[in-house]
Amino acid sequence: MAEIKSIGFIGLGIMGKPMAKNLLEAGFHLKVHDLNRAPVDEVVAAGAKAAASSKECAQEVDVVVTMLPDSPDSEVVILGSDGVLEGAAAGCTVIDMSSIAPTVSQKIASACEAKSVDFLDAPVSGGEPGAVSGALAIMVGGKAPVFDRCKSVFDAVGKSYVLCGNYGAGNTTKLANQIIVAANIEAVGEALVLAKKAGLDPNAVFQAIKGGLAGSNVLNAKGPMMIEGNFKPGFRIRLHQKDLNNALLTGKELGVPLPVTALIQQMIGALVNRGKGDSDHSAIANFIEEMANTTVA
Ligand code: NAD
Repeated sequence: MAEIKSIGFIGLGIMGKPMAKNLLEAGFHLKVHDLNRAPVDEVVAAGAKAAASSKECAQEVDVVVTMLPDSPDSEVVILGSDGVLEGAAAGCTVIDMSSIAPTVSQKIASACEAKSVDFLDAPVSGGEPGAVSGALAIMVGGKAPVFDRCKSVFDAVGKSYVLCGNYGAGNTTKLANQIIVAANIEAVGEALVLAKKAGLDPNAVFQAIKGGLAGSNVLNAKGPMMIEGNFKPGFRIRLHQKDLNNALLTGKELGVPLPVTALIQQMIGALVNRGKGDSDHSAIANFIEEMANTTVA
């Protein structure tokens, strides 16, 4: 199959904007589209062309990458009127890197196949720092030849990429990832609140345990944020609420109880009700702080 030279990129948010810049750096010709003008202008200043719609963004490119918040956004942008499938030519590949419900990825894949457009669901882990440094972990669902053809795109934004199975498998893997991350953040929050209320310095506790069995990427990334009381996103709580919702729905479909996921989902719901939906997901610790009537910071 032909080498990928041109990419249409839709969704220039916290993740998409730095990913688009890394694709430019890697030498791809880039067209970009977002509902917000400011990130479009920024990526255009770095060398991309602006497209007025998702349809226009998908015209005359080899690959379309989407990086959108949730399932309805991917459906509107790819399947909707003035959307990607109205612009993409047969033989184009759509890579949806948004974290969405696996069943929606399968629906989008069928619509793509009907237009002879290839599809991969390829959500990521690694957060804004991983997006900026081009070091994302990418979990992919789709057909092996399409995956192989898109490796140059994944190389530009990620440090690892694995084909996990057919359509939807990338997003099922992402749900597994999000369960582990949520439970880990909640545990770090409980541990640091306990240490603080015992009169210890939370930073000393963090330094003491990070090299042991309790050490994790989550502890290293989110512990310092809790210690500083800095909950600037990063990964917004409302996006993690969406992911745990999708995990619980998928668990229901498959007959898999997810008791800890359900509990943390309730905590996140309470935090969103208290106006914290746009805080970083490290603010799951706020729920424990409020119950304990203390703060880690
Ligand atoms: P974000 O809200 O910062 O960015 C989403 C962008 O999509 C926004 O710029 C928005 O304007 C644009 N958009 C929405 N609807 C659109 C439409 N119809 N047409 C064009 N543009 C549209 O979100 P984000 O944090 O960049 O996350 C994107 C995806 O990546 C989500 O699925 C999220 O779960 C996942 N993710 C995020 C992180 C993180 O740390 N932020 C980490 C891993 C995965």
